[in-house]
Amino acid sequence: MKPKLKKIAIVSLTSCEGCQFTLFDLGEKFLDLMSNVEMIDFRLFEDEKDKGGKLDIGIVEGSPMTKDNIKTLLKLRKRSKFLIVLGNCAAMGGVPEIKNYQQGKATIKQVYKHVQEIFNPEIKEVNNFVKVDFVFPGCPISGDEFLKYFPEFLAGNIPIIQDQSVCIECRKKGNKCLLLENKPCFGPIILGGCDAVCPTSRMGCQGCRGLRKSGNIKTIRCMLKKIMTDQEFENTTEIYGLRDDVSKEKF
Ligand code: SF4
Ligand code: SF4
Ligand code: SF4
Repeated sequence: MKPKLKKIAIVSLTSCEGCQFTLFDLGEKFLDLMSNVEMIDFRLFEDEKDKGGKLDIGIVEGSPMTKDNIKTLLKLRKRSKFLIVLGNCAAMGGVPEIKNYQQGKATIKQVYKHVQEIFNPEIKEVNNFVKVDFVFPGCPISGDEFLKYFPEFLAGNIPIIQDQSVCIECRKKGNKCLLLENKPCFGPIILGGCDAVCPTSRMGCQGCRGLRKSGNIKTIRCMLKKIMTDQEFENTTEIYGLRDDVSKEKF
């Protein structure tokens, strides 16, 4: 008897859909990976109606911003054995979270001169609403990482991403450390796995993959204080929704 196909849905909330495009960019490798699954929903790919029912794996991308988004997310969690989060917006609030730190109404007035009212909720990460089993980090996610870890879900297990910093990959590439040139970089406290793309292009890591578990935030904050002002530090941590995570630490 043939084994039962795993039922999967890939659902998007409010997002740029860049993480789903990363899956498309995998081309045949993605199709091979999914050759033994039943794709119940993949919004970017097809507009066939999702008929509901239980899922083995629910995958969600984007911020739960609107009431409809939140409803979709709660439903997906209820149906799914595993719930996987795809990318920085869903996991950390991402670029949309910047607005949490702005002067709400004043900013809206500045941008939309003639709008009388606008729905402007506080941005909250997916795990504020539902239990999350796994996060594919990054903005966008890494396609290679998806190929590496997704098969473990198909086998019924939850994988673990090794807790190592962006610095490990950066040093392996032979890059000269930006901190030694007094240029800001969050690499030591950020979860590696992106092949250190930013420092390799001589741009400091801004933390799109999120904090690693054993990173020493206090030490890095002290080092960065010599390189950047408090305002610059805050602005940088706002780019990928890192600000609320680092601010839990007392400096
Ligand atoms: S994490 Fe980045 S690429 Fe992915 S949906 Fe959000 S903004 Fe787009
Ligand atoms: S440049 Fe950044 S990522 Fe690279 S070693 Fe230095 S601190 Fe780490
Ligand atoms: S270097 Fe930092 S900001 Fe750049 S992709 Fe990696 S984790 Fe994201």
